Amino acid sequence: LHIINKSMILVIPTTIPPWNTTSFSSFPYETLNHEITTKLFQDTTSIKTASSDFGKLVQQIPTAVFHPSTVSDIARLVKSSYTASAPFKIAARGRGHSVGGQAMAKDGVVVEMGSLINGGIRVCGSESLGFYADVGGEQLWIDVLRATMKHGLAPGSWTDYTYLSVGGTLSNAGISGQSFRYGPQISNVLEMDVITGIGDFITCSKTINSDLFYGVLGGLGQFGIITRARIVLQKAPTRVKWVRMIYEDFATFTKDQEHLISLNDHGPNYVEGSLIMKKSPANNWRSSFFSIQDESEVNSLTSKHAIIYSLEVVKYYNESTTKTIDEELDEMFNGLSFKTGFIFKKDVTYVDFLNRVRSEEVKLQSEGLWDVHHPWLNLFVPKSHILEFNQRVFIDIIRKESKSSGPFLMYPMNRKKWDYTMSVVISDENEDIFYTIGLLHSARNVEEAQIINEQNKKILTLCDETGIKAKQYLPQYYKTKEEWMKHFGNKWSVFEERKARYDPKMILSPGQNIF
Ligand code: FAD
Repeated sequence: LHIINKSMILVIPTTIPPWNTTSFSSFPYETLNHEITTKLFQDTTSIKTASSDFGKLVQQIPTAVFHPSTVSDIARLVKSSYTASAPFKIAARGRGHSVGGQAMAKDGVVVEMGSLINGGIRVCGSESLGFYADVGGEQLWIDVLRATMKHGLAPGSWTDYTYLSVGGTLSNAGISGQSFRYGPQISNVLEMDVITGIGDFITCSKTINSDLFYGVLGGLGQFGIITRARIVLQKAPTRVKWVRMIYEDFATFTKDQEHLISLNDHGPNYVEGSLIMKKSPANNWRSSFFSIQDESEVNSLTSKHAIIYSLEVVKYYNESTTKTIDEELDEMFNGLSFKTGFIFKKDVTYVDFLNRVRSEEVKLQSEGLWDVHHPWLNLFVPKSHILEFNQRVFIDIIRKESKSSGPFLMYPMNRKKWDYTMSVVISDENEDIFYTIGLLHSARNVEEAQIINEQNKKILTLCDETGIKAKQYLPQYYKTKEEWMKHFGNKWSVFEERKARYDPKMILSPGQNIF
């Protein structure tokens, strides 16, 4: 084990640890009923999977892994812990795509949500609610896409990567280039079934058990395990125009991003952006967008400018708008100040666009570059500090000091699409727009991961000291209660009260290190 600091243990498991596979030592095994114990596993594969995540930075070994078949199995497990004289910790694990051990449960039980066999996806519609899908919390968004597309429908709000679980992203927020228009995924939920830390099964919405509903959305798994979510659907497009434009000046780049997200229905459906540098070239692991010739033209700009910026825009269309889509694009781009001649277009199916990161994953998997360390840092930065952030972080730290090739993402969000009543924390500044920043590093070895980890901490300290007021998204660097209190700001007391109400014995999602 390579200790990074007391709360983060960086590991490369070179050998399989001597797991105890024959007895549930220090675990109230005898108090659990037969239906539960038959679904608890301690085999090497189950334990090893549940002790690791996409970050490969933290290892927390659970006592056992629970493979539920039904929602009632999960309720029984949680109730057993709640009523035990010494309650054990329980973490729902979507697919372990966290990077800081958030879905782990040291000495507790990890619930592999993917084992559920009856959650499913049901597409429905009603006059009052419109179209929606009832989706098991364990489902992957890619499966939601496949099931809803059969009806010509789809959710409006996505994450860049669709192989994430519904319960996992709703515990955070679920953001992507569509969020400025459709809100984060948590803004697109009508109702949920949740198993609280008491083991109670509760249906909640904005009108029924609303306190639990608002608490769970963005609640970092602290108040309950989501077993069903009712997701708003829209008519799905069939194709998209996918465009990237290159900027040499950061202020112009952000001005155009902000302009695009201010447009109404005639505007884009998706807006993102990324940095291009010598060490982080135009085609990165997230998306091979440019042809070889275009890529070399774009990359050649990096010899003149330390960083150039790529604005990424998507406009959906279908058969009925095929004839007018190019005109619509021209109108939308009217007045933008990207570098003349540096606009690149693609025309792909809607599904291929949403699946873009998966295509890159398959390539990286084959090259052995996916299953590596990921010391990521995701932030929300107020619009009023974004120029300063560019100078102090992108230019002074990422460009000058970082060896990583990213990708480095940044794109704006409309604050009005976020519901302040939900647990999720965005930015204290009361501004219409804030930016999301994704420093999505990969590291080839522990030493590299350690250096990037230190750099991430340096960025957080810098933001603190200079008053940039960044908030962590998918938070992973808080070690003390004081830091969490600061993160939540004036939401902390409600967060704490909800914990006392729905998980009074502090059983759920211990890997977040909040309570
Ligand atoms: P896990 O990592 O397994 O769990 C995350 C947390 O939620 C844990 O605390 C866990 O205990 C809890 N949890 C899991 N399931 C449930 C449930 N059913 N009920 C209650 N709590 C639960 N995020 C974005 O917002 N936008 C992106 O574009 C994006 N892109 C990504 C791309 C990649 C390649 C990766 C690896 C991650 C990306 N993420 C993105 C981050 C992702 O949203 C988080 O990792 C999230 O945790 C979902 O992963 P998961 O479903 O595997 O959840």
